[in-house]
Amino acid sequence: MGIEVWWSSLTAADRSLRDLLDPVERARVDSLEHPADRGRSLVGAALLRVAVAAHLGAAPDDVLVDRTCTGCGGPHGAPRVILPAAGASGTRSRTLGLCTAAPGVSVSHSGLLVVVALRPAGPVGVDVQRVADLEDAPGSAAHRHAAGSTREAEAWVRREALFKAGVRASVRPARRAPSVAWAASAAYAARSLSTPLPGYAAALAVPGGPAAAPTVRHWPAAEGQRRPRSSSRAKVMPAFFSFGRAIA
Ligand SMILES: [Zn+2]
Repeated sequence: MGIEVWWSSLTAADRSLRDLLDPVERARVDSLEHPADRGRSLVGAALLRVAVAAHLGAAPDDVLVDRTCTGCGGPHGAPRVILPAAGASGTRSRTLGLCTAAPGVSVSHSGLLVVVALRPAGPVGVDVQRVADLEDAPGSAAHRHAAGSTREAEAWVRREALFKAGVRASVRPARRAPSVAWAASAAYAARSLSTPLPGYAAALAVPGGPAAAPTVRHWPAAEGQRRPRSSSRAKVMPAFFSFGRAIA
């Protein structure tokens, strides 16, 4: 099984998604000041669980996610999927006990879009960026030359995806530096992703590359949607968003 890329939208944000999250994730969502930030964080955490659960054949709220920051130990680090120890008892070992390797995961959100990448074994990085947000950044090249904004956004998301895939911070270029050549020469591969909405750039990166074309999924989806395991979960599947079908 190859890499999966799951797209969702800020329009999927619903309080009922909180039921899928663990207390650390809920606290993180609640700590954000702006409603749009809370919505993106909520959908991102839920989508991560939905993607991993589909991969493992588990329920989203049974997925164990560790977000310990490697810098300070706080709960805001890159997410890492944890498999329960072999022989552990309880629901989690029954639902996840057949899995031998935790998938690599990466989450990004910008504007209206939320994206999760899942790689069955090994690290993966994904990044999405609304081009207009880069244009707004003071001092950005895109701010001075609007025609270059898409190109700058493409370079930006490749750098970010590569970093999330494991490129060491010591070789991470300055965020504004043109680095397409650097990305191509590193022992990592990045590829651009089509986005469900215009005006965005997105990229996927893996170590060792080249990155094969991923399987693209949309959540919530109109068809082939995994049913929630109980009727009380039905409300966590909001109506699928209108642009999903356009590129499915
Ligand atoms: Zn930290």
